Amino acid sequence: MEDILKSITASIFQQDDWGETAQYIPELASVDPKQFAISVCLPDGKLINAGAASKPFSVQSITKVFSLIAALGRTGDQLWSRVGREPSGTSFDSVVLLEKEKGRPRNPFVNAGAIVTTDALLSGREPKMALTEILELIKYMSQSDDIYINEDVATSEQETGARNKALAYYLKSHGNLENEPELTLGTYFHQCAIEMTTDQLAMAGASLAGLKGAPAVLSLQRARRVNALMMTCGHYDGSGDFAFRVGLPGKSGVGGGLLVIAPNVASVAIWSPGLNRYGNSHAGTRAATMLSNATKWSVF
Ligand code: GLN
Repeated sequence: MEDILKSITASIFQQDDWGETAQYIPELASVDPKQFAISVCLPDGKLINAGAASKPFSVQSITKVFSLIAALGRTGDQLWSRVGREPSGTSFDSVVLLEKEKGRPRNPFVNAGAIVTTDALLSGREPKMALTEILELIKYMSQSDDIYINEDVATSEQETGARNKALAYYLKSHGNLENEPELTLGTYFHQCAIEMTTDQLAMAGASLAGLKGAPAVLSLQRARRVNALMMTCGHYDGSGDFAFRVGLPGKSGVGGGLLVIAPNVASVAIWSPGLNRYGNSHAGTRAATMLSNATKWSVF
């Protein structure tokens, strides 16, 4: 595994095209795209890495996986009356289906769906408490205390997040937001601004991969279902292409992170901040493809 990761890293640094960082969040736009890290957590809990695996980065939409686990823990299957389980075929911040489908987002990984999930976690308490629940869950799953919210990134997105605000108000107009839009949005922006290293993120995926010794935070059935959603919806309108290339459940974030689950075999975290046209890590997707080819971990 060490040799595979070294060879993937060398190959990534040979490329010229790193993609472009997320331009709509100024704090992320200014990150150097030519960075790369990969960490793999194996069944014995062993962590193997290459590149900048100890450098914290903005995990952004990857937190949607953890807020989904927390929301399902809080509300159970009731959540599915507010959000669907189908791929959207549209970009992560698209408004188009929301109007057509009367305010019920297609899945919990597009922004509208994640805003609903966060709203379900917020009801009946202060934003700080909902955020603490998400952060504590992530810390517990990664078995690491050293994970923080970057306030500058949260503020940066708050200032430029007109599209997410539109989505939240649209959800509210359809009665699918229980809290004041600004409160839900503030919680959502802070959740997205959590920073982790690939080492921590790979560890955090161990429960979803069903690895021995991983914290027991969700049942096998729930893990399978979250993995199914990651496979079908985790890369937005690039989900089919990711399944075609990699053949594993994955979740991306506009910070350039990727969480990839090989059920019963490994949890993988990859980071490279330059994005492809779907808003998923450009080099990260290449690296996941190389890893899947080298290990034959595809579920197909
Ligand atoms: N915070 C980002 C947003 O809402 C998350 C999107 C993403 O990572 N794809 O736009």
